[in-house]
Amino acid sequence: MTLEHLKPETIALHGGAYRADPASGAVAVPIYQTTSYQFQDTGHADRLFALDEIGHIYTRVSNPTQDAFETRLAALEGGAAAVAVASGQTASAFSILNLAGAGDNIVSSTDLYGGTWALFAASLKHFGVEVRFVDPADPENFRRATDERTRAYYAEALPNPKLNVFPIREVADIGRSLGVPLIVDNTAAPLVIRPLEHGAAVVVYSATKYIGGHGTTIGGAIVDGGNFPWEEHAARFATLNAPDPSYHGKVWVEAAQPLGPIAYALRVRTVLLRDVGAAISPFNAFLLIQGLETLPLRIRQHNNNAVKVADFLHNHPKVGKVIFPRFQTGEEKRRADAYLRPGSYGALVGFELKGGREAGRRFIDALQLFYHVANIGDARSLAIHPATTTHSQLSGENQLSAGVTPGYVRLSVGIEDADDIILDLAQALDKA
Ligand code: PLP
Repeated sequence: MTLEHLKPETIALHGGAYRADPASGAVAVPIYQTTSYQFQDTGHADRLFALDEIGHIYTRVSNPTQDAFETRLAALEGGAAAVAVASGQTASAFSILNLAGAGDNIVSSTDLYGGTWALFAASLKHFGVEVRFVDPADPENFRRATDERTRAYYAEALPNPKLNVFPIREVADIGRSLGVPLIVDNTAAPLVIRPLEHGAAVVVYSATKYIGGHGTTIGGAIVDGGNFPWEEHAARFATLNAPDPSYHGKVWVEAAQPLGPIAYALRVRTVLLRDVGAAISPFNAFLLIQGLETLPLRIRQHNNNAVKVADFLHNHPKVGKVIFPRFQTGEEKRRADAYLRPGSYGALVGFELKGGREAGRRFIDALQLFYHVANIGDARSLAIHPATTTHSQLSGENQLSAGVTPGYVRLSVGIEDADDIILDLAQALDKA
């Protein structure tokens, strides 16, 4: 029985390196709440530090609980390796900083989570990394913005609030023809969209959302697809191909050879986690494993409920446009059909209240089951009115270009009974 033939439901429980705890036989992954690991002797220590032997040294860099989460997530995503980090923001930042430094640039889709936008537009700029934002409606925009200092393309697979699926294959192919990897943030669509199968090189997650799934844990992950020929573009990817003075001149593509096509993931761990230190705690890694084990089951229920909610809203007299991949037309529909797992549309549903901004406020204040929070991907249903919260700092014009009209409401549909979710929406719409 080989893992490649197992289904996501099975991989979520059995995938990765962990079967049972070697010390105790424990079936559930233990929380290895330790900072450090005793070396067997000085030779062992020597080999670990030189990466001649792989093993744990210090929890800032690796830990057995983290390892169980990482190897299982990599298996589920179809990647070669994964690195767990402290948050989704760390995952996004490290995914770029692993390739780009001062004077370099990346090309990013404009359709981004606000936190990522701030990171790209302001903080990376302070580091000397330029982010060139392009409209993903035309994939060729990525080619046009590329030059010899371009280190990566970046996009969200299912960006909210617009919920227009990103053209992964088109942009990945342009990138591969120019020697540029595509990094995809798949936070909103784990299992629903499989970016690596469409040519992406790296997938990043805010595991805080669907992967953790219960609104308890901030965490992130970077999955190395193991499918990008870094060594063929040695000048562009000096961080992986040139001797690293911070690690006795190691060349990461060579150091990774005995381990598999994981040079990118290896450097995130050995350099960025070592130096920047945004490690995930063993306890949080444990909680994310609990989430991962039921992810396929939850995603199915999230998706089924979202379809019912979108249909209900579509037919409601107080609701204008419903933003949901199933209702898209033209090129947006083609992309949704090409990249979403058949019958799945994710569990984010946007809609416009005909009554505008004040109707949005009344609707949110009337909700009883839904939580009013700035989060997505909790098992519970969540709602937010961006015009008075996440997007309130933007001018009206910038809100509109972000896809936020005054009466726009975003739902993250949970796994409760769909009838109960709809009852709550119906009573709140009555008051809107
Ligand atoms: N990417 C997306 C699409 C998100 O929605 C979020 C968080 O809201 C992040 C990244 C950042 O993740 P975190 O909050 O875990 O740092």
